[in-house]
Amino acid sequence: MPEIKWLIDASYFIAAVLFILGLKKMSSPVTARKGIVWAGMGMVLATVVTFLTPGVSASFMPADNLVLMAIAIAIGGSIAWISGKKVAMTDMPQMVAIYNGMGGGAAAGIAAVEFARGYMYGTVLFTLATLGALIGSISFSGSCVAFAKLQGLMNKAFRLPAQNVVNAILALVTLGLGATIVWLGQGVSSDPIYNLAHGAGSAVPAWLLISFFICALALGAIVTLPIGGADMPVVISLFNAFTGLAVGFEGYVMGNPALIIAGIVVGAAGTLLTQLMAKAMNRPITNILFQPISGEAQAGGTIEGTMKEVSALDAAAMMRYASKVIIIPGYGMAVAGAQHKVWEMTQNLENAGVDVKFAIHPVAGRMPGHMNVLLAEAGVPYDKIFDLEEINADFNQTDVVLIIGANDVVNPVARTDKSSPIYGMPILNADYASNVIVVKRGKGAGYSGIENALFYMDNCRMLYGSAQKVAADVIQNLKTME
Ligand code: NDP
Repeated sequence: MPEIKWLIDASYFIAAVLFILGLKKMSSPVTARKGIVWAGMGMVLATVVTFLTPGVSASFMPADNLVLMAIAIAIGGSIAWISGKKVAMTDMPQMVAIYNGMGGGAAAGIAAVEFARGYMYGTVLFTLATLGALIGSISFSGSCVAFAKLQGLMNKAFRLPAQNVVNAILALVTLGLGATIVWLGQGVSSDPIYNLAHGAGSAVPAWLLISFFICALALGAIVTLPIGGADMPVVISLFNAFTGLAVGFEGYVMGNPALIIAGIVVGAAGTLLTQLMAKAMNRPITNILFQPISGEAQAGGTIEGTMKEVSALDAAAMMRYASKVIIIPGYGMAVAGAQHKVWEMTQNLENAGVDVKFAIHPVAGRMPGHMNVLLAEAGVPYDKIFDLEEINADFNQTDVVLIIGANDVVNPVARTDKSSPIYGMPILNADYASNVIVVKRGKGAGYSGIENALFYMDNCRMLYGSAQKVAADVIQNLKTME
């Protein structure tokens, strides 16, 4: 079918354009939904073209695997469809982590097959396949660990004795094995018939390949195990970038331009997101990987003061008679599904002449943009939603800050306590406001496991209860004040 090669290339080109335009649209909440549909259409086009033209679309893919491909698409497609429909918004981060891991695993799997078949030859292809296998395996096992932690199946932080030494030795062994594969790969003949006759992948022994994959998988898991605390978003984003890179490399190995382009786009976007998230946390990537914040860590200094409670009635009155209110949503709002009630409460306050804004921390919730998505879903206009840098200067002229289910992102120890593991992470300066009301169910810590000094400050009051119920109570009380 080589005469239709131009049609395949044209389809891949269209798919690539759809990926890029889709990604562009995802950069704004207004167009993000369309962006996902466009990128999805690109993916469907690339998959259908590859499926219909095996042996032409990917030069190394034999044409006799249609049944296997159909089974894989049916199984993968059904699992993704069902889990995508069922997943709760608060479980989205672990979903992203596991999908991400699957991409890395698939890239590593492609490399494993190409090594074993023995059709691949030449230093360039061997180097790219080995790099893709390494990065893909790390991304796969690391993402599985991230999934287990976010899903609550595993302790948030788990540290080996001499963790960094173990990491370094394992990394060196894995790189050594990979370099040996590339070196031996030079001995692979460019003649597939010869390779078949002498056993697939005859130049590279099976034990070497198996050891390499085991070490790479172990490396991903071991590096991720101690990462808990507030660092998980950056790690998920880093694995996302890894997966993109691995897919791009394996796309080159398979001679499939759609995979190369999709991989590069994901790799580049993931790298940028990782940088932005690391900047938002004020933690260099090396610190995140090699000096992770332990989930059990506590702030070094003792926190003074007591937590003081406030009723829904008093909280409603404080906001109703304020002129400026800032609402800070966090993970608790997402778990409680309180965004609609929070918006209804906001409208009540606005009708009473109060100026209400929303402040979003870049890592609030459990995924990048989590709060923006929830507020958009509830119908909050985008011009009421402000990022950390845009709003942080406003807090000291604000009468009331209402914190709904947020904790780590407003913890002032990040600013004041040098011994705190989250020291240096930019936070929303809620404590600078005249009054702070914190809605949460009890004395539970945030994701990082660190005590929050804000809750003990003189200007802070605790409004205990689940976010949706509390917002409903506040609305009730606001109505009595009309
Ligand atoms: P936190 O996880 O720090 O705190 C959430 C708070 O919500 C808890 O203290 C909890 O207290 C409260 N809460 C839980 N359920 C409810 C409920 N039903 N109603 C009211 N309150 C509730 O959230 P933040 O958003 O402040 O910070 C996000 C954290 O998650 C950061 O550490 C971040 O690094 C991390 N993270 C972020 C990711 C991302 O990409 N954004 C991904 C993974 C982790 P109580 O139990 O007392 O109710």
